Amino acid sequence: TSYVYSFGTPGTPDRDRLGGKGAELARMVQLGLPVPPGFTVTTAACRQVLAQGVRPAGLAGDIDRHLALVEDETGRRLGDPERPLLLAVRSGAAISMPGMMDTVLDVGLNDETVAGLARSTGNERFAWDCYRRLVQMFGETVLGVPAERFAGVLADVVAEHGAADAAALDAAGLRVVVERGNALCEEIAGRTLPQDPREQLDLAIDAVFASWNGDRARLYRRRFGIADDLGTAVNVQAMVFGNRGPRSGTGVAFTRDPATGDLGDYGEYLSDAQGEDVVSGARTAVPLARLRELDLASYRRLRSVMGTLERHYRDLCDIEFTVEDGRLWILQVRVGKRSPAAAFRIAADLVEEGMITEDEALVRVTGEQLTQLMFPQLDAGSAGSEIAAGLAASPGAAVGRVVLDSATAVALAARGEDVVLVRPETRADDLPGMVAACAVVTARGGRTSHAAVVARGMGLPAVCGVDGLEIDLATRQVALAGERLFAEGDVVSVDGGTGRVYRGRHRTVPSEVTRWLEGEVVASPLVAAVARLLAHADRTRRLGVRANAETAPDVARAVRFGAEGVGLCRTEHMFLGERRTYVERVLLGSDAERAEALRGLTRLQRESFAGVLDAAGGRPVTIRLLDAPLHEFLPDLTELSVCSALARERGRPDRALEERTAAVRRHHEQNPMTGLRGVRLSIVRPELVVAQAVAAFEAAADLRERGRPFDLELMVPMVSSAEEIAEVARSVGEAADQVAARRGRVPYRLGAMVETPRAAVTAARIVTHADFLSFGTNDLTQLTWGLSRDDAERSFLPRYLETGLLRTSPFASIDEDGVGRLLAVAVDGARGARDAVPIGVCGEHAGDPASIGFLARLGVDYLSCSPFRVPIARLEAGRAAL
Ligand code: ADP
Ligand code: MG
Ligand code: MG
Repeated sequence: TSYVYSFGTPGTPDRDRLGGKGAELARMVQLGLPVPPGFTVTTAACRQVLAQGVRPAGLAGDIDRHLALVEDETGRRLGDPERPLLLAVRSGAAISMPGMMDTVLDVGLNDETVAGLARSTGNERFAWDCYRRLVQMFGETVLGVPAERFAGVLADVVAEHGAADAAALDAAGLRVVVERGNALCEEIAGRTLPQDPREQLDLAIDAVFASWNGDRARLYRRRFGIADDLGTAVNVQAMVFGNRGPRSGTGVAFTRDPATGDLGDYGEYLSDAQGEDVVSGARTAVPLARLRELDLASYRRLRSVMGTLERHYRDLCDIEFTVEDGRLWILQVRVGKRSPAAAFRIAADLVEEGMITEDEALVRVTGEQLTQLMFPQLDAGSAGSEIAAGLAASPGAAVGRVVLDSATAVALAARGEDVVLVRPETRADDLPGMVAACAVVTARGGRTSHAAVVARGMGLPAVCGVDGLEIDLATRQVALAGERLFAEGDVVSVDGGTGRVYRGRHRTVPSEVTRWLEGEVVASPLVAAVARLLAHADRTRRLGVRANAETAPDVARAVRFGAEGVGLCRTEHMFLGERRTYVERVLLGSDAERAEALRGLTRLQRESFAGVLDAAGGRPVTIRLLDAPLHEFLPDLTELSVCSALARERGRPDRALEERTAAVRRHHEQNPMTGLRGVRLSIVRPELVVAQAVAAFEAAADLRERGRPFDLELMVPMVSSAEEIAEVARSVGEAADQVAARRGRVPYRLGAMVETPRAAVTAARIVTHADFLSFGTNDLTQLTWGLSRDDAERSFLPRYLETGLLRTSPFASIDEDGVGRLLAVAVDGARGARDAVPIGVCGEHAGDPASIGFLARLGVDYLSCSPFRVPIARLEAGRAAL
């Protein structure tokens, strides 16, 4: 196998080897689209260079051969003084990392060929414009000269020549930029751009390889979970020139709006420009629709290419193109990044257009995206304090403190502040600040600028191109058209969906998707798309979806959101507040006090249970028996001790207080979280189980009397052995008999929560006493790892995540290798013993998009998650079934 492939190579292009950009260039050549000729040096070559520090043998020869092909096709030669070939040297990894690695354009120019280029094109200014770009890009990428220094050189020359900007410099001015640029390289790197074009090419290729390990590329990979050892390919391609004058230009086009999914002309065009001019936002481009007026023929050709590409990829395409003297060239295509709203819209529209199936559409949207669509939005009704408006570059709402640079954003965010990053424009070095921020606002750049593209990829709200926004880094003030707006540290609210920025903390309102889920009639294409895909997910999924909810209003909402029942109704809150003392009296009181307290508890719980069962409307409701650790019900021991000591000191010892203190001390535990909680409390105080079960049965009987449907399940927490659940089953049976005698038998099922490793391992025995099992993955994770979530998340877990010891927190996404193994053992054991025993998952992982696929493969029957996660679980369960 070779290390180099020509774009024209037949066969299916291999992304892993050629990188995304190289593979798509090859495909476009196969589709007969106008792509400048070139070749790809593979990721394998990059991996070898990065690992061994030397180029693989034979690489130089391979490059020679493929270069000769490009020379033949263009009729130009590298270094030829009359007809020089110029090359673009472009990075391109297998997974797209836009703008994160380097590209060097105009390779092949030197003092001699620049004259040849001028003569052969009859355009001296253009030739020198290319040359100054090469000196700068080579200086930055290969020699490591900071970009700001080149910007300084350019600004000086512009000022000295009395020009408006770089575009207004003539050939003589550009020649000065070349000279000073080279002097700058000499000063900082000790060398200038080599005059030998082949040396330029080799050094540029090496620099692109090395950019794989650059800071921003690493950070990007960490943020998006991309492996560090893939390497990048390098594409070497004949240059085409958008900077040859007014009949030339360069641009970016999307086949649909990447922010909303709307059809139409989306993109930007900048005439007489090259390369990053559009993306950097240094000059604001015009909307793509303007190309129709500027150059109708190129516009039409572009529209036709866009159609071809969309039909080929059957998805949103993001296209980079250049027009050279009225001739259209396509430089890149990729399946475009998009906002969550656009993802749903585009997937549903493509189904409507007959391009993809509903199954394919479902694969193209994620639960994570749906989460974002359910976030609240800024309330447009109270929009009195709007202070600035720009382009709606990436939707979503956020409120935070203004910060003016990436470092400050990172520092403030580390202290837990929400920050809004406000920049003239963003570049790759702003990535850390963007990762830290909750929104970004830029003064310059369009909807295809770096800020917009990166923000959309991250789901970060962004407003770009706020015309007239002036950011003064010295005084840390921001002004709009000369008028002071705000200072660093001030709170602003940003709406990336409308492109508006407001002063202060703005009210938020539920998003349209949430309003629709709540049952409101909302006529919008986005809601229609979400509805369509959710309906398809419901048809497809094999997993049931229930909610964790404890109050009637929460249960009602969960049902509106599509829950098929309540998989976990925690009863702790029914014991807290003023009701806490009931439990205290059961634990510490005399026999009479205890009986009285138990009656009180039953009465209160009966009402709560009836409300929850009724709100579920006949869907199953799993009521979990009391789980909280003992100390949450008893008064604070230290406080009691202090009070009784004080009383004694004052010479008025309080006998009752002292007895209470002693009683509490007897129940005091060193490790309450692994102490008398869950099933253990039920064993020690069976009367508590009976009281709760009686309350549940009475509640059900009450509903039955009123002709209302119900489906009751009771669940025992923290079970570790079959004997425990058998014992509790007896107490529950006793309660059932009591109620049956008065009001007739109430049907119920009794289940065990599997949340200790021992329960998982002995599930086969536990199911002989349980009608169903439900995994409590939060506790199971804590106990499997031997770490307490609350403490770990504050102390050492962040360090583990930072250093890569852990990829994600095991509390956020299921730890497949550890906790996941235990789940598998439990499912196997349980099903082996009782084939059809229902198994659910009620830990937080049940609502985590990244965990649901795994849980589906395990073969559990249903998920139970918080009400707001229910639609997400429905969607992910649908995807998991495909
Ligand atoms: P990125 O991966 O950051 O998008 P690219 O390799 O696409 O980097 O290069 C950046 C820009 O350089 C392109 O958008 C295009 O404007 C310009 N460019 C790349 N290749 C060529 C070429 N062959 N001729 C002219 N301009 C090019
Ligand atoms: Mg590109
Ligand atoms: Mg638990």
